[in-house]
Amino acid sequence: MVQGKVALVTGTSRGIGRSIALALAAQGAKIVAAGVSLEATENLVAEIKASGAEAVAVQCNVSSATEVEQLVKVAKETFGRIDILVNNAGITRDGLLLRMKDKDWDAVLDINLKGAFLCTRAVAKLMTKQRSGRIINISSVVGQMGNAGQANYCASKAGLIGLTRSNARELAKRNITVNAVAPGFISTAMTDALPEDKQQELAAQIPLARLGSVDDIAYTVLFLASDQAGYITGQVIGVNGGMYM
Ligand code: NAP
Repeated sequence: MVQGKVALVTGTSRGIGRSIALALAAQGAKIVAAGVSLEATENLVAEIKASGAEAVAVQCNVSSATEVEQLVKVAKETFGRIDILVNNAGITRDGLLLRMKDKDWDAVLDINLKGAFLCTRAVAKLMTKQRSGRIINISSVVGQMGNAGQANYCASKAGLIGLTRSNARELAKRNITVNAVAPGFISTAMTDALPEDKQQELAAQIPLARLGSVDDIAYTVLFLASDQAGYITGQVIGVNGGMYM
């Protein structure tokens, strides 16, 4: 499905991004793992290499245009091309609207939305020349539904959907597909630390009555990244247990 393809994944130090990188590598993709914490990113790359796949770790803050250009340069120098871009890096700085600080608004928009724009712009230059590519943006169910206390995060994730659709239209003639995956509540270290009754409260909002796993997201990304998904573009794939339909 993705054998021999070069995949650049942002935010791979843990959680969903880590799982996406491992799933792509397990299917034979070469991984460019980008993240702020170099040590964690290098640990992931060591794990991928130990499994027999190729990978390189690059320290990169996705909200910096200079660092993103450098990231893409390293990817090109190492593997010669980029076939798959997964814009996964993301943060939250939650707070009620009336108390939300400018810096919390800016940080979330800069990393979650501008970061995806910067990475896409830099990678699309290569993909356009290659006349092929897969771009997958990790949005969120709350970008579709809204969520009290997350105006900045929801705006960034809704913005990613607009970015996905615009880029899908613009890049289609170059045989580049652009899609978004919108995870629901996914079980991560953060949600695992919640008390049992809080976890049950979350699960009660979900028709499938459980939180999703990082692998649920990784396998969806794997499919969208594959040659077999070539007729899907501009779509938002909800992976949310039916929480939003
Ligand atoms: P996470 O565990 O907090 O991991 C976020 C990743 O993004 C980390 O690897 C982090 O790297 C990286 N990152 C943060 N700021 C960055 C920057 N400026 N430049 C580059 N990388 C940066 O989050 P997650 O739960 O796996 O979520 C991954 C994505 O899925 C996010 O976009 C999130 O919004 C989305 N999502 C998650 C859920 C969920 O329930 N977990 C639901 C819907 C959507 P460092 O460790 O180096 O800081």
